Amino acid sequence: MSELLKNAGLSTRAVHAGEGVDPATGAAAVPIYQTAPFGFPNAKALEDAFLKPKEGDYIYSRMGNPTVRALENKVTALEGAQDSVAAASGMAAISTTMFTLLGPGARLVAYRDLYGGTSGFFRRVLEPWGVEVVWVDVGAETGDGADLKAALGDGAGVLYLETPTNPTLKVVDIEAAAGLGRTAGAAIVADSTFATPVLQSPLELGADLVIHSLTKYLGGHGDTTGGLVAGSEDTIKEIRARLVDLGGIMDPLAAFLIMRGVKTVKVRVLQTAENAMAIARHLEAHSRIRRVNYPGLESSPYHETAAGQMRAFGGMLSFEVDAELEDVRKVVDAFRMITIIPSLGSVDTTLLLPAVSSHYKLSKAEREAMGIPDGLIRLSVGIEDISDILEDLDYGLSVLD
Ligand code: PLP
Repeated sequence: MSELLKNAGLSTRAVHAGEGVDPATGAAAVPIYQTAPFGFPNAKALEDAFLKPKEGDYIYSRMGNPTVRALENKVTALEGAQDSVAAASGMAAISTTMFTLLGPGARLVAYRDLYGGTSGFFRRVLEPWGVEVVWVDVGAETGDGADLKAALGDGAGVLYLETPTNPTLKVVDIEAAAGLGRTAGAAIVADSTFATPVLQSPLELGADLVIHSLTKYLGGHGDTTGGLVAGSEDTIKEIRARLVDLGGIMDPLAAFLIMRGVKTVKVRVLQTAENAMAIARHLEAHSRIRRVNYPGLESSPYHETAAGQMRAFGGMLSFEVDAELEDVRKVVDAFRMITIIPSLGSVDTTLLLPAVSSHYKLSKAEREAMGIPDGLIRLSVGIEDISDILEDLDYGLSVLD
């Protein structure tokens, strides 16, 4: 990255980092290098690529591809990292990272409020592999940090956190958690998917690695899956080597599409955050809503922590409708614009009912203990005009009248 870009604002980096006229053809947009292998003009070039590899040398797309590399360089610049590696999905980035950092006998300390795919991977794959997984609650790092210190014990391989959390929008104090994790010798891994580089910078707050599901806000249009992990050059080199072993690489077309999305990430994310704030305030005052979870609201127990580490409060919120599940289904079915989509971070406003989808395997009591009653609706706020979103929400809720 040029010195000029290093000091540039986030949107400037989102537009320009990783870009440049293609050296081979002069193409102004980064081309989709849709190829598995790369050919060599002579034996010496082949030998150099294997024995003395340097940036810009490509051999085989599982080991590296120019389109994917351009995307990596762009997100590296947004996170203020030294390097990053892209993968086929958020889960590919998470699993490859954990296979790199952990092994049988190692301890992983993880927050309970993680994306279900992540906590499921820890339980179904890492635990049987011999990793000891110790769970903590959001807030374990605050105050005197006693709960987190106890979980870290006499040392841990990884402290894994996600913030804000899904679907209750809790906020982990990254700096406090990272401080305690570091003292225990753990690598601090932060999933920043909900926040994006626009809203928070985990590496500046002490995390060693930041992970994104690029499927969400960074891609931004709900048309591609991808994942990425960013951090120091040395650690990313190790994770990349493991990704080559495991094979969960990103394909060039996905990289091209996600790169196009990343260019507009700041305007999109700030617009969703502005809309979400207005929706949260509107719903908080609505007679049929019991509770709104949004860190931007002063009523959120996480407001202060969020205000301290986030540049705005994001486009995700959840709210509890004051009705039985049967009536909540009617509300959801009545929306005319807001769609039922089990993903998030796209330009359109979408919803999910966690109790009957992402969290259906838990008992009602377990869900309620986690703050997920049957009437909870998770909203991924889009960039539509706020008046239209509010009108649709009011229209759906009016079925309860
Ligand atoms: N992290 C978070 C916070 C997520 O919400 C998700 C998916 O919903 C993932 C990771 C996994 O990403 P992917 O679906 O791209 O594998």
